[in-house]
Amino acid sequence: MNLKVGASTDVGLVREHNEDSYLAGANVYAVADGLGGHQGGEVASRIAVEILEHGMGTVDGGDDTGVPERLLSSILAANEDIFRKAEADPKLQGMGTTITAMVAGRGRVFLAHVGDSRAYLLRDGELRALTEDHTLVHRMVSEGQLTEDEAAIHPQRSILTRALGIEDEIEVDQATVEVTAGDRLLLCSDGLTGMVDHDGIAGIMREAGDPQEASDRLVHAAVKAGGADNVTTVVLDVVEAEAPPPTVEVTPERSAPRAAPVREGAPPRRRWPRRLLKIGVALAVIAGLLFGAKAYVDRQWFVGVEGGNVALFRGIPATPLGIDLSTVVERTTIPAAQAAALEPWRDLDEGITAGSEEEAREILDQIRADLGAPSPTAA
Ligand code: MN
Repeated sequence: MNLKVGASTDVGLVREHNEDSYLAGANVYAVADGLGGHQGGEVASRIAVEILEHGMGTVDGGDDTGVPERLLSSILAANEDIFRKAEADPKLQGMGTTITAMVAGRGRVFLAHVGDSRAYLLRDGELRALTEDHTLVHRMVSEGQLTEDEAAIHPQRSILTRALGIEDEIEVDQATVEVTAGDRLLLCSDGLTGMVDHDGIAGIMREAGDPQEASDRLVHAAVKAGGADNVTTVVLDVVEAEAPPPTVEVTPERSAPRAAPVREGAPPRRRWPRRLLKIGVALAVIAGLLFGAKAYVDRQWFVGVEGGNVALFRGIPATPLGIDLSTVVERTTIPAAQAAALEPWRDLDEGITAGSEEEAREILDQIRADLGAPSPTAA
């Protein structure tokens, strides 16, 4: 397979600087959205794509062994470099960046992702997200505290739970996605997804004739919708390798000039292989999500009720499909009913979430203080 690429970026209508960076080189593609005052954001996102480009070197699409490992080590190196430079230079303090990177392999692409930039796959006219946002609102949606619709307009929707350069260690989501000629892939910063909804993005991805046109039209749509943020897109079309010439069927929709209108619900060609590939992709995505979810759940904390008493839990209070995602770390002697009778703690039953063990213990201390109980600091 070969990839045809188009890429665009725009500062938008509100921001003074464009802190997004992108990479659209030979077989290595990425979008990075920088954060941090002064020039920090620009510096961080540029370091990320430069280190990625350098780290991946020339990727041979014919032999893709070891690519996921190289991709991961490049991103870890970028994290370390940004973190170190942010510590060393007061002007760059607090800088960080998202990264959503894609490397072409043999009939597949490799993804690595941190933050709230996104990757999508358009196949058979259907647009699917390949990444999960590392944001506070996404966490709240998965905990059942917000609906997707509420999250989309939440004032704190851009608060990240993970970004490169903020800590000396970083957890990177990785996935492998099988691709086939006719697929169209998108990498984008939140300047697109914050301004244009899923259907809007899908429409442009379906209609645009070539990747550069798709990329330009997506950026234009985001700017037209208000351009509240920098917006960056990289669009990739999966095409048959040039030699030997295809003997079976050419995919007319993608290779034809854009005059051809796109028919919704057109009969899919090669029904079985497509469907099998779809299932393969779905399984790969689910596996990636579960892997990420397990690691994520293990780092969450909340205060809830165990055996009638207030208790400290590791995990999340939700029980999707009846699966318990938490373990009791410490059961206090505070009767839960007493605490829940106080206004701030009336939702104790459902679990009060915390960002860390420390924060969860602070909540426990607060409950003790509110009940006039002594804090067992010397216990
Ligand atoms: Mn942004």
